[in-house]
Amino acid sequence: MLEQQRIHVLVADDEPHIGRIIKMKLEQGPFAVTLVYDGREALEQMEADPEIALVLLDVMMPYVNGLDVLAKLRLEERWRAVPCIVLTAAGQEQHHKQAMALGASEFLTKPFSPKKLYARAAELTGVPSEEMGATER
Ligand SMILES: [Mg+2]
Repeated sequence: MLEQQRIHVLVADDEPHIGRIIKMKLEQGPFAVTLVYDGREALEQMEADPEIALVLLDVMMPYVNGLDVLAKLRLEERWRAVPCIVLTAAGQEQHHKQAMALGASEFLTKPFSPKKLYARAAELTGVPSEEMGATER
C-alpha cells in the first residue's frame, strides 16, 4: 500500500509501550500511526495533520488529559466527526460515562486486546477486517 493511502491515526498515551503496541498492531493493516505522549502534543498534532481519521486518547496524561482533549475536539467543527477511542487504566471506569457523554466512539480499559482495538479502528474508519488488512503485507 502506498504510504499516502494509509489512514492517519493519532495515538496519545504517556506510557510509551502502550503506544508502541497499538502502532505495531494497526500498522499491520492500512494505518499510519503517529505517537504522542501528552494532551498538548495531541492537540498540536491535530493542528499539524488534517488527515488524521482516528484518534486514540489515554485519559491520564500530562498537561491536558484525554477527556479534555476529546472535549476540545468535539467543540471544533473540523474535528467534530473524527472518531475517538478513549483508553483508560483499570480501576478508572468512572471515566466511561464522561467519555461517552463527550462524544467518544469507544471506551477501552487497559489491558485491552490489540485484536479488538484493531477491529474497532477498522470499523470506525471503514476499512476491511483484520484478516484482509493483515495479509496485504
Ligand atoms: Mg496515562
